This record gives sequence, C-alpha cells and structure tokens, in this order.
Amino acid sequence: MAADPPFDLAVVGAGIVGLGCALAAARRGKRVVVMDRDAQANGASVRNFGFVTVTGQERGEMWRRALRTRDVWAEVAAEAQIPILHRGLLLTARRPESVAVLEAFLRTEMGAGCRLLDADEVLRDHSAASTPELLAALWSPHELRVESREAIPRLAAWLEARHGVTFRRGTAVLSVETSKVVTTRGVVEAEAVAVCPGDDLFSLFPDRVATYGVTRCKLQMLRLADPGYRLSAGVMSDLGLARYAGYAALPEAGALRTRLQAEQPDHLRHGVHLIVVQSADGTLVVGDSHHYAPTPDPFADEAVDGLILDEFRAVLGPGAPRVVERWTGTYASAPDRPVVVDTPASGVRLAMVTTGAGASTGFALGEEVVTDLFGGARS
Ligand SMILES: Cc1cc2nc3c(=O)[nH]c(=O)nc-3n(C[C@H](O)[C@H](O)[C@H](O)COP(=O)(O)OP(=O)(O)OC[C@H]3O[C@@H](n4cnc5c(N)ncnc54)[C@H](O)[C@@H]3O)c2cc1C
Repeated sequence: MAADPPFDLAVVGAGIVGLGCALAAARRGKRVVVMDRDAQANGASVRNFGFVTVTGQERGEMWRRALRTRDVWAEVAAEAQIPILHRGLLLTARRPESVAVLEAFLRTEMGAGCRLLDADEVLRDHSAASTPELLAALWSPHELRVESREAIPRLAAWLEARHGVTFRRGTAVLSVETSKVVTTRGVVEAEAVAVCPGDDLFSLFPDRVATYGVTRCKLQMLRLADPGYRLSAGVMSDLGLARYAGYAALPEAGALRTRLQAEQPDHLRHGVHLIVVQSADGTLVVGDSHHYAPTPDPFADEAVDGLILDEFRAVLGPGAPRVVERWTGTYASAPDRPVVVDTPASGVRLAMVTTGAGASTGFALGEEVVTDLFGGARS
C-alpha cells in the first residue's frame, strides 16, 4: 500500500490568499506546506494599503467575505502581534451627488452601523479631513488597518510557529497535478492543492486563467512624511464612490459619475481615487491609480502621482507633506467577477481575487477553498 502523502494541503503562493488557505486548513488540524518562488513576500499583499475594508465592497458575497475576513484579521492580529493601526473609514463628500449616494448606501443592509456626519461633526471628530468644501462624510466603524509589509511576514511566522505550517521559499512551482506538485526543488505530495498565484497569469493553468478573461492592474502608491496630525480612520473621497462597487452599483451613483466626468476627467481616465491611511511613525500611505494590461509597464508616471496628490489636497488641505517613498503594485483583475475559484484537476483549486480586495476578503476565500477541498462546515 502506498504511504500517505506527507501533507494534507499544499499551497502555491504565500500572499494573503495562500496564507488564508493555510490558516483555514491548519485550524482544521491539517498538515500544510506553503511554497513561494520569492525569498520573502513581494507581491500585492505587501504593496497594498493594508486597509481591510468592509463598507464599499460589492453587495452580497464580497461584502460578507469582507466582514468575515475583518473578524479573522482581528483574531489573528491579537495572536500574531500584528498591530491594528486604526479602525474605521471616513468617506468625505464635497458634492451633493455624493451625499445622495451615501444616503442611498445607508438605506441598504450594508449601511448597518454606519452614519452620515455633517460638516460640524467632521470638524469636531475628524478635524484633519475638515475643509470648506466638505458637505458631509460617511463614518463606518467596520474597517481596520495593518501595515502589510510587516503584517504578512508576521502572519507567516505565526502560522509556522503556532500552527506548524511548513514554508518552502525560493521554490518555484512548475506544475500541479492531483496530489503532486513539481517544484524547482523537487516534488511535493499532498492530498489537496490550493494554487494562489496572485497576478501570475501564465505559469500555472494559463488556459484556465484565460477562460475568465483575467488581466492585471497596475497601481501607483505614495508614502508622505508625517503631517503632524493623526488620522482617526482611513480616509476616502467622492472618487471612491464612483469606483467601489458597494456604492458605484447604486442607481444614485450615475449622477455623481456624470459630474465627476465633467470636473475630474483625468482622475477617472487614470482610475485615480483616494485612500489615505496612517502608519505607526505618522507617515501616510496615499494612492492610487488603475491601469490595465496583461503585463503592465513598471513605470510610475509623475503626472498620475500629481492627480493623486491633487485629490489628497482637496480632502486633507493644501499642505501636502513631501513624498518619502513611491512604488507600484499589480493585482489580478477580471471583467465580470471579483473572485475566481476553479478546479483544474481533482483535488486542486485555483483561487484568485480578481479585484483590488484581497486584503479584505482573503481569509474568507481561504475558508471557502478549504471547505470546497475537504468538505464540512467552514471554520
Ligand atoms: C497597490 C495595491 C493596493 C491595494 N490595496 C488594497 C487594500 O487596501 N485592501 C485590500 O483589500 N486589497 C488591496 N489590494 C489588493 C490586494 O493586495 C490583493 O488582492 C491581494 O494581495 C492578492 O493576494 P494574493 O495572495 O492573491 O497575491 P500575491 O500577494 O501577489 O501573492 C501571490 C504569491 O504567489 C507566488 N507565486 C505565483 N506563482 C507562483 C509559482 N508558480 N511558484 C511559486 N510561487 C508563485 C508569488 O511569488 C506571490 O508571492 C491592493 C493591491 C495593490 C497592488
């Protein structure tokens, strides 16, 4: 009789989606190995804002995934010594059309726990985001923010130490079949395999990836010097209402889009909207833009950074601090679905978040994939 495979689950990719699968399986007592070609996390999962957003996620499954993922982040952060740097979201509105979208949002089930603040309340409780143009702001208590470049390595170290997950880094996976993973460092056997390649569209199961029309999206990101104030929450603006599906799919968003098209056409053309979050040292992570291509160029356009900073000044006042760091990141993007889960072979799942929401949904997706592979109830 053949020996049992040494692992129950092999995971390809040590980004947040792969780590989410590893956690869900480890919590069931499964023996897990995670393989990644890079020596340390280097993909979207460490280039993002670390902004775990619930409010604004696409209504239905994505919104529920985000609620669940936020809860898992809170549990894991406490155990893995990952600081939660701030909680909540302040979405500022400086146009009546934006206020109409926020009011409509609050009438949906997704508005539970959220509130519309008037300009005086913003001045009192969130003074950094108070400008003469401000009409109102949505306050959401649901979000939390971690410093991804520290949180992802800590999460992996904790999975290794606390849950006995095996990590094989510097290990490129060349092919995957049922129960068998061929890598640049030999063959790994496992009962089940979760392939979580992020935005690598071409190495594993390229034909399956192509079926879903997946391409890549490039984002430009900035870090600004400590402005001297402390944000009470992550900050977004009118542009986010036209971009994030939880708001943008509401009928009221049509009038806002028309107005933004007239007033900020360059922002819309470059997919610029505003997210501002703050780090422990006071610096601000600010972004972003969206440009789509199967292989996006690696260059950060100064004019696009200028558009991001224009919106920053419109929301947080004219004195934008100096830029101390710039980077680009890429994520997988599909035209018609936020998530791809595919079965390229028996006992194998290909799992990709195909919109910019993996930090906010990865743990829930990991639970879904593990339930799909091993059966039973979700963790
Ligand atoms: C700039 C930016 C800002 C963002 N902001 C947010 C945000 O604030 N909130 C939010 O929720 N989401 C955000 N996102 C989206 C989020 O970061 C992604 O959805 C998420 O990180 C994707 O995780 P992943 O594990 O699928 O991919 P990745 O983090 O890219 O990890 C995939 C891993 O797979 C490995 N890999 C691939 N193929 C192989 C192979 N054949 N062999 C071995 N290893 C392989 C890669 O080396 C990589 O480490 C942002 C993304 C970007 C780029």
